[in-house]
Formats: sequence, C-alpha cells, structure tokens
Amino acid sequence: MNLIHKLKDILFKDVSTENESKDLSVLMRILCIINVLFNVILTVFYLVFLSSRLFQWSIGFIVIFGLILWMTYWDRTNGALSVYTSAIILSMLIYAFALGPSVGFQFSLYSLILLFYYKTDENPIFKGIAAIVISFSVIGIWFYLVYVEKVVEFTKLQNIILLLACTIYLSCTYVTISYFYYLKFASSEHKIIKYAKKLEKLATMDPLTQLTNRRGMMNHLEAFVSDSASHSQLSLAISDIDFFKKVNDTYGHDAGDYVLVELGKTFKEFMKDKGWIARWGGEEFLFAFENNNGDYAFEQLDKLKYSIEKKQFTYKDYTFNVTMTFGLEEYDSSIGIAETIKSADNKLYQGKESGRNRIIY
Ligand code: GH3
Ligand code: MG
Ligand code: MG
Repeated sequence: MNLIHKLKDILFKDVSTENESKDLSVLMRILCIINVLFNVILTVFYLVFLSSRLFQWSIGFIVIFGLILWMTYWDRTNGALSVYTSAIILSMLIYAFALGPSVGFQFSLYSLILLFYYKTDENPIFKGIAAIVISFSVIGIWFYLVYVEKVVEFTKLQNIILLLACTIYLSCTYVTISYFYYLKFASSEHKIIKYAKKLEKLATMDPLTQLTNRRGMMNHLEAFVSDSASHSQLSLAISDIDFFKKVNDTYGHDAGDYVLVELGKTFKEFMKDKGWIARWGGEEFLFAFENNNGDYAFEQLDKLKYSIEKKQFTYKDYTFNVTMTFGLEEYDSSIGIAETIKSADNKLYQGKESGRNRIIY
C-alpha cells in the first residue's frame, strides 16, 4: 500500500513551471513507462528468438524513453513531448522497416495525433496539418513496406508473438491517452457546473443580507404555483421599514446596513418553517407563506411586528428601535403572482398612510 502511494507521488509530482501543464507531464510519464516496458520485452524477444542486432536499438530506446521520463521532472514537458515525438517516429521507422508491415509498428504513429490534440494551447492548424501528415505517412509506409523485403526473417509464430506484443502496446497507449482525455473533460465539466451554480447563486442572492433577492423569489414563487395544484395556498406580505431614511441620516449609512443585516437574520429564522423570505428592494422585504392562508400569515406577522418593535439595535454608541409596516395578500391564481404582489404593495401604502407600524390585510 505504502509502495503504491509512493509510486503515485512520484508519478503525479508537479512540474515546477506554471506554463507547463501538469496533466500532460503525468501522461508523458506513463507513456514513457509503457515504452520502456515494451522495449524491455522487445529486447528479450530479439535476443532470445531473433538473434538480430535489433536488440541494440531496443536498449537504445529504453535509455531514450528513460531520459524523456527524467525530462518531465525537469520543467520540460513541452521539450519532452518533442523528444517523445521524435523517439516514436524513429522507433516506428526502425522496427517497421526491419520487421515489415505485418507486425503493425507503423500504427504507433497514430498515438501522436491524439497527443498533439491533447495540448489545448497549440495552434489548431498545426494539429490539423500534423494529423494529415501522420495519416498519409502511415498509409505510405504501409504500402512501401508491402513491396520491400523485410530485413529480419522470422517464423509465423514469432510474427504472431510480435503482433500480439505490438497490439498490447498500442492498446495500453491509446487507453492511457483516452483516459487522460476523459479526466480533462470530466474536470472541465465539473468546473462548468460549479461556476454555473456559483453564478446562479450570485444572481439570486442579496450580498448584504444574504437573503434571496427579487429574482430568486420570483423563481421560487413561479415554480411553486406552477408545480402545485391551483388550490394550494400562498400568502404574500410586502414589508417596509418605517422612516428608514431617518436611521441613515441620524446614525449613518453603516448603521442602516447593520439594521438590514440584523433584520435579515431575524426574518430568515422566522420564516424557516413557514416559507421564503426575500430582500425585495432597498428596505423592503417579501414574505411568502407557503401552503398557508392569509389569517395564519396575519397572526404570524403580528407576532413578528411586535418582536421588531421590541428589538433594540445597538450600533457603535447608539441604541435605537425600528418599526415596520406590512401589506398582506392571499395569492389569487386568477390574477397571478405579480398582481397579488401589487395588491399587497397597495396595502403597504395604505399602512404607511394610516400611521405605519401595522399590517393591512
Ligand atoms: P417610510 O416609512 O415612508 O418607508 O420612510 P422611509 O424613510 O423608510 O422611506 P424612503 O423611501 O424615503 O427611504 C428609504 C431609505 O432606505 C432611503 C435609502 O437610502 C435607504 N436604503 C435603501 N437601501 C439601503 C441600503 O442598502 N442600506 C442603507 N443603509 N440604506 C438603504
Ligand atoms: Mg421605508
Ligand atoms: Mg421603501
């Protein structure tokens, strides 16, 4: 277990420069390890079965891919990718020309297309040209190899073993690159969802009181009336702090903000089991009593109105009280949300006209 953790740490060790990407360097490391292992297998095969000089090349490639692996720890992901590309082309040319097309080495070039496209910062025209060149090269090499004699002779069984090794090598390479594509895609998707949620929250939240804003409340209300059957009850009360301008003028704007924040907390707690609360505008709040009629809402708001009256606000050296006026209306599906709020607003206005600190229902 410890060894696995250690290996993971080594593999995922960060590149130290910011403009070299970490995921590409980890991908390069895994690909280098696959190439080293593949060349170890080829070396054994060449030495034991083919008695050809090819083993000198496979040992050479073990060293080259080892060096590329080392480069990825040395701030050089982009450099490592260039050397890796050259090494893959060279090994393909040597193995394919020595062993012929039946082993399948020419197909290792395709992995380079996937690698080039993995790098999002590269010019797409370069990637397109590289993809076309590589595709035509594979076809060209394959045709050429069909017509020239292979350098090393081997039996049918040896051909099958080599083809199997090469297929496993190609599969490992493609699966690794595909997995890194998946990781990149999944992490981008996760980020988009996270930011969309954050934006949605910012767009529907009042930053001062941390209450839902008008837009958020309208979304809630519209969803509620369209989700629930038309007979479900909803009572809406719009409220406004009395003489709030005086609070600002007497104790300062910050004291006014403090009152809004404190009231916001009180309202949130008060509405916890009753429905929703929103900061509707400057010093106006909208209470939405979900599944409750106007009589119940009136009773509850009356208690709230009383507790606001009694609440003492202490800001710096000042201690003061505020009162609030409410206009309450039951939701009427025949006129809709906006008209119900308008009607509650008219009642609020009546409350202000008739002396404030009251609920008009
Ligand atoms: P009324 O009883 O008629 O409602 O009197 P009022 O003074 O509350 O009404 P008015 O509309 O004249 O003033 C509302 C004040 O609310 C004016 C504005 O500066 C203040 N206000 C609105 N938003 C904020 C805010 O976010 N912070 C602070 N501190 N004050 C705010
Ligand atoms: Mg006011
Ligand atoms: Mg007002």
